[in-house]
Amino acid sequence: METFELYSIFNQCNGISTDTRNITENCLFFALKGDNFNANHFALQALENGAAFAVVDDKNLKKLDNNKLIIVDDVLKTLQDLAAFHRFHIGLPVIALTGSNGKTTSKELLHAVLSTKYNTIATIGNLNNHIGVPLTLLRLTEDTDLAIIEMGANHQKEIELLCSITQPDFGFITNFGRAHLEGFGGIEGVIKGKSEMYDYLQSNNKTIFVNFDDSIQTDKTANTTRFGFSIENNPLANIQITNATAQPMASVQLNGIEIKSNLTGLYNMPNIAFAISIGLYFNISLENIKEAIENYIPQNNRSQWTKINDKNILLDAYNANPSSMQVAIENFKQLENSSKLMILGDMFELGNESYKEHLQTINQVIETKIPSIFIGEHFFKVQVKNDRVKYFQTIPDYFIHLNDSPISQELLLIKGSRGMALERILKKI
Ligand code: ATP
Ligand code: MG
Repeated sequence: METFELYSIFNQCNGISTDTRNITENCLFFALKGDNFNANHFALQALENGAAFAVVDDKNLKKLDNNKLIIVDDVLKTLQDLAAFHRFHIGLPVIALTGSNGKTTSKELLHAVLSTKYNTIATIGNLNNHIGVPLTLLRLTEDTDLAIIEMGANHQKEIELLCSITQPDFGFITNFGRAHLEGFGGIEGVIKGKSEMYDYLQSNNKTIFVNFDDSIQTDKTANTTRFGFSIENNPLANIQITNATAQPMASVQLNGIEIKSNLTGLYNMPNIAFAISIGLYFNISLENIKEAIENYIPQNNRSQWTKINDKNILLDAYNANPSSMQVAIENFKQLENSSKLMILGDMFELGNESYKEHLQTINQVIETKIPSIFIGEHFFKVQVKNDRVKYFQTIPDYFIHLNDSPISQELLLIKGSRGMALERILKKI
């Protein structure tokens, strides 16, 4: 079936579904495949549950001669083509963002800011891959004014594909960090892979938002249409940090107006600066920008403060990579409190650089002189001996230790890769 034919079916349907547990009446079901599932097996179930049509690629389903089954060569590719077609026809301004760290935070802040004036659709949560991006684009309607699309990648050519589907008018790269080094092939690979967004925007004469504080971004984007922001040197506003307390929430002074965020850590400043600058670019008033940023509360253990008994815990267990770990440790070091403890978990997907990066993190921690706990196989393998640090191979091993010597410190940082799920430690505090 041609994309335009499927598009007319899509327009008669009530949204898209890819999960038989969430079928809405009259939706268009896409039978996607993964490593451990094949939704072709559930296509009939989807129709029974109320889907109007099901797009499938299991040729055996042809035999059923069911006119509600749309048989294609590749369901995923069909979904992506449909999303690109829809995005093209709907024609509204789309802002795309990628980068190693801070994508979701920047996206949520900007979404809050732009929503004060425009009907804005943004990626929900972290649905930022080759499936999530098309699904987000297919949520755009005639009533949408603006869209913000988060793009995640851990290999070359992924951002290129996502840009070709999304056709962004504006693009932003939060930063180039030491994340997903395994799939990208080192930091140079990260820069190359993420810069596929710049390549798309430049070759299509679109606008790149550049963080002037980041020399790689400014080097990469010389001679292009550009718009910048910087904490010290914002062309639109002079953004300054005015507040750093023991439990610091990033706070900025903007043309005499103070914006107090619910985000902690200096590493959130570029995310806030981005939302402010792009908000100003789209003519949002300072009052509305302030209100939107002040009302935003981070989710999913992304640098969230939690209080348990007498302890203040900076729970940053959502994810970790060498770059975000480095800034988190640096930030924690600066907090004023003499009773601090860091509990850090392994960082994944680092390939050949894993040993070196874990060693570097341990050395950084030892230099801070803050007592620390390292958990996970990678840290355990590296182990630099020091009186202030302890190593545990697994969380259960650490729990055994906790039974004998409970945590005495008042201020805690907990950070590790998603696979470590370090939030499990909270119930033992
Ligand atoms: P993912 O790759 O999972 O989509 P993301 O890029 O969307 O991640 P966020 O979810 O916004 O990132 O933030 C995750 C964590 O990254 C935060 O809890 C914080 O530790 C760190 N972080 C956020 N912003 C920055 C930044 N600008 N620089 C470095 N680290 C950051
Ligand atoms: Mg994200």
